[in-house]
Amino acid sequence: MRRTNVDGTVMTNNVALDVDGVLGNFETHWRECAEEVLGRPMRKANEQHSMGGRYELTNKEVDAVWQAFHATEWGSVPMYDHASELVLALEDLGCTVWAVTSIDERHRSARAESLAGLIPAGRIVCVGHAAHASAKANVLRDLGAVAFLDDHPANTNAAIGSVPLSVLLDRGYHGLEAPEYGVTVIDDVMDFPVLVESLLKRTGRMPLAEAFLRRTERMA
Ligand SMILES: [Mg+2]
Repeated sequence: MRRTNVDGTVMTNNVALDVDGVLGNFETHWRECAEEVLGRPMRKANEQHSMGGRYELTNKEVDAVWQAFHATEWGSVPMYDHASELVLALEDLGCTVWAVTSIDERHRSARAESLAGLIPAGRIVCVGHAAHASAKANVLRDLGAVAFLDDHPANTNAAIGSVPLSVLLDRGYHGLEAPEYGVTVIDDVMDFPVLVESLLKRTGRMPLAEAFLRRTERMA
């Protein structure tokens, strides 16, 4: 049994995830790239969000690292151990999982490569490396997404009003804006599917039969 909309189309619960810092360990990969490009070990100086600030690099050094990173590294950003558990937990709830990521469109296939099938290329939306936080909010609105998870408060703040559940994964970065009223803050990524499940139940969007079937299929 599939839950359908009034016009007979199948109800889709789209859920959007940021990639870097949420699914993929961007920081480690960028730091290793910096060590290679700059030829010295990187020592974290503080908890700033910007990589140059965190490792006290000059603008010129940051530019050199980014140039190398953009050229070859997007395809090999390693996924966190929790990445597949997170995506599968959302799929078990009957959700369709999208990646909404602040990288340029030209890196989309590399991003798909690093996600290794966890989220297919057709469900990766690239809003651009220098995009304003509202760019992700616009994508969420276009998708009709029910929930969004990101580790940058500017993105989750901008998403309020564009998605019923905007969730910040708090990585403890310093110097960023505070999460606004309306954003849910978590520090364990696996709290996200729990929040999504209660939202779906509360709003009558939970395709129970489908979730049950998927879970049984996986366990078989
Ligand atoms: Mg991020």
